[in-house]
Amino acid sequence: MDTDRLGALEQRCAVDLIEIFSSVQGEGPRAGERHLFVRTAHCDLHCVWCDTPLCHVVPAEARVTPVAGGATQSVPNPVPVATVLGWIATALQAVRHTAVSFTGGEPLLHPWLLREAAPVVRAHGAKVLLETDGTMPTVFESILDSVDIVSMDWKLPSSCGERDFATEHSAFLRLARGRETAVKLVITASTTLEEVQAVATAVALACPEAVLVLQPVTPIGGAVPPNPRALPALQAAALQCHALVRVLPQIHRLMGQP
Ligand code: SF4
Repeated sequence: MDTDRLGALEQRCAVDLIEIFSSVQGEGPRAGERHLFVRTAHCDLHCVWCDTPLCHVVPAEARVTPVAGGATQSVPNPVPVATVLGWIATALQAVRHTAVSFTGGEPLLHPWLLREAAPVVRAHGAKVLLETDGTMPTVFESILDSVDIVSMDWKLPSSCGERDFATEHSAFLRLARGRETAVKLVITASTTLEEVQAVATAVALACPEAVLVLQPVTPIGGAVPPNPRALPALQAAALQCHALVRVLPQIHRLMGQP
C-alpha cells in the first residue's frame, strides 16, 4: 500500500480509479439491484482469492462507462474527485439506480471521495453503499455520516490468508449499528463449523441487525469452493448464534459478468 501516494491524493482531492460502470449488484442481500460501481485502486490486504488482484497496481488509465452500453472513456490517473462526481451525476440521471457501490480495492483508503460523493448520490435519490474489508474502523468512524449501507467482509485467516482481524471487524460493526449492514463471510472447502459459529456470535454481539451472508468462494487463484452439501449445515450452525444468516453465491458470476 503506497501511503505516500495516498497522502498526496488526499491533498489534491483526487483518486486512483480502476473503473466506473453501471450493472447488477451481484453480492449480498441487495443482489439483483441496479448499482453504479465506483472501484478505486489500492488495498491494505492481499487475499488469496481476490477477484480484483490488480487493485494493488494503479492503472495508468481508469475505464469509465457511466451509462451502460455507452462509450467507455479511458482517463489518466489520478482523477480529480470533482470529475468523478460529474460521472456519478451523469449515470444517476441516465438510469435509476438504487445505490452507488464504492468498492475496490479498499475504498476507505480514499475517504475524501465518499465524503464528497454522498451529497451528490443522495441528491439523485440513491444510497451510498460501502463495500469494505472492515479493517479500518477509525477511518470508517470519520465518514459515518456519508454511508447509508455497509457491506463488510469478515476475513477468516484460513480462507483469505491474512491475519485475524476479529477485533477490527467487531469494532467496525459496532460503529455500523443503526445502518443497513451485511457481513460477507467467504466460505472455502477448509472453512470449519467452529469458525462460522465464532463469526456469527461476534456479529450478533457487535451488530445484531446485520445480515450474515455465507458466500461460497468463486474458484479464483486456486481457491477451493465448499462441498455444496456443507452449506446448509454451516448455515444451521450459524443460526444457532445469530438470527440473520443467508447463503448466497456471487450471482454476477452465474450471469457471466465479471
Ligand atoms: S480486501 Fe478485497 S480487494 Fe483487497 S485483496 Fe482482499 S479481496 Fe482483494
